[in-house]
Amino acid sequence: MSIGRKLLLAAAKSEFLAKQATTRSFSKKAVKKFMPGEAPEDALNAAAELSREGRGTIFTKLGENLTRLDEAEAVRDHYMWMFDQIRERGIPGHVSVKPTQLGLDLSRDACEGHLRKLAAKAESTNTILWIDMEDSSYVDRTLQLYEELKAVYPSMGIAIQAYLKRTPNDIARLMPLKPIIRLVKGAYMEPPHIAFAAKRDTDFAYFDLSVRMLEAAAKGDCLPIFGTHDIPMVDRLVARAKEIGVADGKYEIHMLYGIRDADQRRLRTEGRVVKTLISYGSSWYKWYMRRLAERPANVWFVVRSMLPG
Ligand SMILES: Cc1cc2nc3c(=O)[nH]c(=O)nc-3n(C[C@H](O)[C@H](O)[C@H](O)COP(=O)(O)OP(=O)(O)OC[C@H]3O[C@@H](n4cnc5c(N)ncnc54)[C@H](O)[C@@H]3O)c2cc1C
Repeated sequence: MSIGRKLLLAAAKSEFLAKQATTRSFSKKAVKKFMPGEAPEDALNAAAELSREGRGTIFTKLGENLTRLDEAEAVRDHYMWMFDQIRERGIPGHVSVKPTQLGLDLSRDACEGHLRKLAAKAESTNTILWIDMEDSSYVDRTLQLYEELKAVYPSMGIAIQAYLKRTPNDIARLMPLKPIIRLVKGAYMEPPHIAFAAKRDTDFAYFDLSVRMLEAAAKGDCLPIFGTHDIPMVDRLVARAKEIGVADGKYEIHMLYGIRDADQRRLRTEGRVVKTLISYGSSWYKWYMRRLAERPANVWFVVRSMLPG
């Protein structure tokens, strides 16, 4: 892991910097590269535009590691409202949540209760509830929650991180559930005994795991989602899906709002199913620092936005 990436991920944990960044106008301006706005309405309007191009959306309200259970209840209620908005506006949208945003640090039972309610709502509104994957200390609990709930509510997906050395076993363990898996490379700072330190090892694992998921998809045992902006990787996977005989729609490509937009459009035009994850809300600091760490060149974008004009 590069020093720049390490520094940015370490800075992501600073409450002091979070307070500074989220109240300064230059950083508010810089974050707009990755989100249409802080209000849910901004996200819904952006999603309506994407849907005109045939792109779906995944909505996520930023915030994690909540410290009060009433905040988690408010997050749950917000997402219940969001599911209604998705249905009323006819947007092809999903919702993606972080377990710690639903109180996992405070009470597993409360978090499970909230997830249950949201999963039932996703089921009744004919959409999908996604569970994001946070740092490695949460993986066991997140997988258990997914296993318990997916058996009852089939319309649930989970993010799985290719950089974790445990992931091949985790994917094998989930297969009997016919899982919906968003495979991502992984965004957190992890020690080398837990996650690959070299990017090329993560990339290799990503391709290998993706092919396994496509093979399962060919048998109807998995819905693989490739959550990556690595365009050569996506192109290789699209070619491999064709070879294996997995049709468009039996796998999907998901990317973040504001990143590789021209490629998202091209892939859609070529017939792929493409969805764009739109983040919103005011608690964007930690999430934004992870985006900067993924591509330290983005820091220059921040510096530029501090300059007048
Ligand atoms: C839909 C979606 C959901 C995600 N959910 C999770 C999750 O639940 N848990 C988790 O740990 N991680 C999640 N991630 C983040 C993921 O783990 C990676 O950190 C992130 O996607 C960067 O890796 P990459 O696969 O895009 O490939 P990389 O190999 O890192 O990047 C490939 C290329 O993409 C472009 N790119 C990548 N990141 C950026 C950026 N920030 N800004 C500008 N260009 C960029 C660059 O051109 C880069 O060369 C998610 C990502 C996506 C797309």
